[in-house]
Amino acid sequence: MINSEYERRIAARFAAFDQDGNGHIDRADFNAAAKALLAEFGTAARSEKGQALYGGAEALWQGMAGIADRDGDQRITREEFVTAAVKRLRDNPDRFAEIARPFLHAALDVADTDGDGTAAVGDVARVLTVLGVPGDAARSVAAALDPDGDGRVGEAEIVPAFARYFTVPE
Ligand code: CA
Ligand code: CA
Ligand code: CA
Repeated sequence: MINSEYERRIAARFAAFDQDGNGHIDRADFNAAAKALLAEFGTAARSEKGQALYGGAEALWQGMAGIADRDGDQRITREEFVTAAVKRLRDNPDRFAEIARPFLHAALDVADTDGDGTAAVGDVARVLTVLGVPGDAARSVAAALDPDGDGRVGEAEIVPAFARYFTVPE
């Protein structure tokens, strides 16, 4: 069942992945996302955290391409995204969580500025904003990741939440 609200949400997810806004999703978008996150938190690309983030971004791209790049041209068009990625990911959100986990783990590490294994809710909202989640949604998603209200978010919370956001239930 396609409706305008569903299509609007698909368009928002596509735009989030298409970081450079050139109309398709490819490896450059994932590198751009990693670069933007490192810049947001003042982390060097050559640092351990920086290298882990680029590695996670590459794994996320490879996983997305494996699911969605039907014609193998190393680009995910909007049509490929809608027909392959969203439907298949929605049918199997756990798969998307596994594909995204290395990137999210590394992103959380970058946002974990005091090294205690969790990121502050405000810093998670910064991560989500950099990744293209609109500001209002980023704040509410980040707050929802902290159900006990202690102001801290860990990997166990961010991975399934990210999968839920991007798999777009109808
Ligand atoms: Ca792009
Ligand atoms: Ca393609
Ligand atoms: Ca921390």
